Amino acid sequence: MPDFDPQPLLSLLAGHAQLGRSDLLPVLQETQELYGYIPEDAAVEIGRALGVPLADLSGVIDFYTLLYRDPVGDQIIRVCTDPACAIAGGEAVLTGVCQLAGASPGESSPDGRYTIERSTCLGLCQHAPAVMIGSDRTIQVDPLNIDPVFDRRGKLPQDTVAGDLDILTANCRSGAVTGIDTYLTSGGYRAYRKALSLAPGEIINMIRSSGLVGRGGAAFPTGQKWQSCADTGAVRKYVICNADESEPGTFKDRILMERDPHRVIEGTLIAARAIGASLGYIYIRGEYPSALRSMAAALHEARQAGYLGANVLNSRFDIELEIRTGAGAYICGEETALFESIEGFRGMPRIKPPFPTTSGLFGKPTVINNVETLCNVPFILEFGPDAYRRFGTDRSPGSKLFCLSGDILRPGLYEVPFGTPIRRLIYGMAGGITGDRELGGVLVGGAAGAFATRDHLDIPLTFEDLAESGLPLGSGVLMVFNDQRDIRQVLLVLGRFFAHESCGKCYPCQLGTHRQHEILARIAAGETRSGDMEALKDVGWTMSDASICGLGQTAATAVLSAIERWPEIFYSQTR
Ligand code: SF4
Repeated sequence: MPDFDPQPLLSLLAGHAQLGRSDLLPVLQETQELYGYIPEDAAVEIGRALGVPLADLSGVIDFYTLLYRDPVGDQIIRVCTDPACAIAGGEAVLTGVCQLAGASPGESSPDGRYTIERSTCLGLCQHAPAVMIGSDRTIQVDPLNIDPVFDRRGKLPQDTVAGDLDILTANCRSGAVTGIDTYLTSGGYRAYRKALSLAPGEIINMIRSSGLVGRGGAAFPTGQKWQSCADTGAVRKYVICNADESEPGTFKDRILMERDPHRVIEGTLIAARAIGASLGYIYIRGEYPSALRSMAAALHEARQAGYLGANVLNSRFDIELEIRTGAGAYICGEETALFESIEGFRGMPRIKPPFPTTSGLFGKPTVINNVETLCNVPFILEFGPDAYRRFGTDRSPGSKLFCLSGDILRPGLYEVPFGTPIRRLIYGMAGGITGDRELGGVLVGGAAGAFATRDHLDIPLTFEDLAESGLPLGSGVLMVFNDQRDIRQVLLVLGRFFAHESCGKCYPCQLGTHRQHEILARIAAGETRSGDMEALKDVGWTMSDASICGLGQTAATAVLSAIERWPEIFYSQTR
């Protein structure tokens, strides 16, 4: 191992030290870019410069899967083995990659060229099985031909973006990044200009009247959230665009950011204007290199055009937005965990209340919305809440994005009005089940979602209709499994995911996710014991009732729904 040369780090720290701990994550990421990992000597220097004790700092590094305290290979190969990739041969890809590199998962090859890792969902479910190479390249891999992982020939096919509506996806369908000129030509930033001429209360009223609710899973009314933050009257408030999309099966926010980044920025700016925030963050997961590039370029263009900065377009409105890159932790999609991450701590959720609108980032009133939610905002501002309500149903108005993956002919991103039946999406738009098979089940809402069967195909996709059937809309995932798939294997993957991603702050989730995984592993191996189903229910109900945050509260939802739909698979060795 070469001697540690502190000079590049000292230059780096000179630009960050005055900001202290809140710059910890970017500093760690940049240090890793310099040295390939974060050497202990570098950690000592960073801690000294930013005022963070070494033990604390080490805990932060260890929390994030994309940060390393020990040397790694020249290239890190992350093979996704979460549900959509798993059924497409992700395990075979992982095995093949390990064999060619001569390393086991989590290890480096003897020549030091590669480190191989099993990855959680890379947000490339429609291109399964997917692999991330280094920090900036993602490819689809044929399990029978692993070579492209090593010879750099592999690539991703174009994303399919289609549907019955194009409020959110009009600019996503060409396959190219929408630059500012194209965005302006198609009416971009008109809504922002309008917002600058309105009183904040008028903006909030329009959002309230539209009936827009959050698309991240919790479905909280957006206008109400903005109102309670605006009402605090605080001088310092923050707006945050939550782009830490990590729910297995979900890739809509990635496509919005990659193809139409200015819409994301425009929605965030309007939110800032409505609540009176002068500073905001766009927190993008580290596994989305292409989205990071698009968003950074678009933010630069927007700043050049005068949409950010002091006294924007002579409106007396000041706003700055900063992009933060996540470092590999699903839990940072939880709003308070995301605040902790920006503040330079491990991304562990806070106990609520207080809620973010009164005490959020750095203890200040904060509005945090996810990418899809914010992308609805320009349309509502420009055309009015009534125009928005023309789509969808009374209780679920507007447009919704669905991510279709798994055993279907045309996996992709589909935009439809709320109320579209599941059948139309799976059979009408995505072409039905592959290989002339029948539908076995659909995982609705993501890893934290629940299973639907053929009996649910005519349910309209609305919050109210899904709730009546015990199905969560979640993040808009429809992951399809044919009738030959062994759902026990799918459950095993979900169980492994939650056990890996639990942050460990509260015992029901910390212990429950591991216990659940252990039982699911046994069942998947055909070694079911009597009492396993009861134990899964017991653990599941305990996690749902007693966990601090949404991760633990939903970690057993899919398992419990599978028990309800297919109890026989928890007794016998064959489905
Ligand atoms: Fe952490 Fe799980 Fe508790 Fe959430 S529920 S705080 S993820 S341990």
